[in-house]
Amino acid sequence: MRVVVVGAGYAGVLAANRVAGKVKAAEITVVNPRPEFVERVRLHEQVAGTGVAATPLASMLREGVDVRVGVVDKIGDGQVTLDDGGSVDFDHLVLAVGSTVAPLPGTVAVGTWEGAEEARGALAGLARGKVVTVIGGGLTGIETAAEIAYGRPDLRVRIVGPTIAASLSAGARERVRAGLDRLGVEVVEDSVERIDPGEVRLRSGSSVASDLTLWAVIGSVPDLAARSGLEVEGDGRAVVDEYLRSVSDPRIFVVGDCAAVPGARAACATALPQGAHAADTLARVMQGREPEPYSMGYVGQALSLGRRDGVLQASRRDDTVRRFYLAGRTASVVKERICRYAKYGARTATYAWLRGPK
Ligand SMILES: Cc1cc2nc3c(=O)[nH]c(=O)nc-3n(C[C@H](O)[C@H](O)[C@H](O)COP(=O)(O)OP(=O)(O)OC[C@H]3O[C@@H](n4cnc5c(N)ncnc54)[C@H](O)[C@@H]3O)c2cc1C
Repeated sequence: MRVVVVGAGYAGVLAANRVAGKVKAAEITVVNPRPEFVERVRLHEQVAGTGVAATPLASMLREGVDVRVGVVDKIGDGQVTLDDGGSVDFDHLVLAVGSTVAPLPGTVAVGTWEGAEEARGALAGLARGKVVTVIGGGLTGIETAAEIAYGRPDLRVRIVGPTIAASLSAGARERVRAGLDRLGVEVVEDSVERIDPGEVRLRSGSSVASDLTLWAVIGSVPDLAARSGLEVEGDGRAVVDEYLRSVSDPRIFVVGDCAAVPGARAACATALPQGAHAADTLARVMQGREPEPYSMGYVGQALSLGRRDGVLQASRRDDTVRRFYLAGRTASVVKERICRYAKYGARTATYAWLRGPK
């Protein structure tokens, strides 16, 4: 049985390893644009030079799992075609291409490996006192601005977004602002209209000077599913059934950021259980057993504010926030452990998660 996994992020790597462990007859091929596993949750560290986000895929995948370096151009009837003209046949496919970015012209996007590398180079070339503007008030933007301020205290760092940390409780939001303030990050609550050379134009009519402007908004998914004729939501995420299979083709599982799973938030905390569940479902079907519907509940959100501070926001299983949050050094240590556990989970295919709300 030939299984092709498209995309070697959290969901894809865990799925490939778990299928390899559970379905001995499976010949598994992972297709990914580069021979490395990129820990996207560490891209802000890669940008700031405080951490490394890439690990060779060979050290992440079980023995026997093949890697084909390339970009899938189209998923056809039992075959994927690659942009280098090659193709790979499949009986089952796991679509795990994650999410991507749609940056404003004049900015460098930190949410992809290529963008993060470009941002790292640009940042390294900035002299003392230069201004870095991070666009995006969500957790990616906050982590990026904080990490740069921590790693390069000689620069002036600013974060711009209509609201900062909108997904957190009021108390945690305040704490994030205090943490940013401690790191010297200027907070501008406004929307960005456009980027002019050396300047960020804001919707309110004002503008701010900027030597390097980073785009830290994860706003879209690759159009591979739509291009391949799979049913997708308006935002391009593939529509799946309760077992995470494409409603257009039951041979195709869709997991991670690119899957339209009701109630799911784009996160590695979501991608890992989905990758595991797809592998378990495939194994069950191979053994002639009934598949079980996917169910997953959240426990919270975690963000780093540099290497010595962070915030852990508690949530209910349905991902609505509770009032409780933890901040400071302990939160920072826990956040680091979460990142390590996510990578460990993908590599070993062992990952535990809560069932979703009733
Ligand atoms: C700076 C930053 C910080 C973050 N922090 C957190 C955090 O603290 N906690 C959290 O839960 N989430 C966090 N996230 C979000 C998290 O990283 C993503 O939700 C997660 O990576 C999604 O996993 P995935 O497996 O679906 O996709 P990805 O990890 O994005 O992997 C997708 C893979 O598919 C590949 N691919 C894409 N198109 C193709 C194609 N056509 N053919 C072949 N391969 C393809 C990509 O190159 C990539 O390797 C953060 C994101 C960023 C950018």
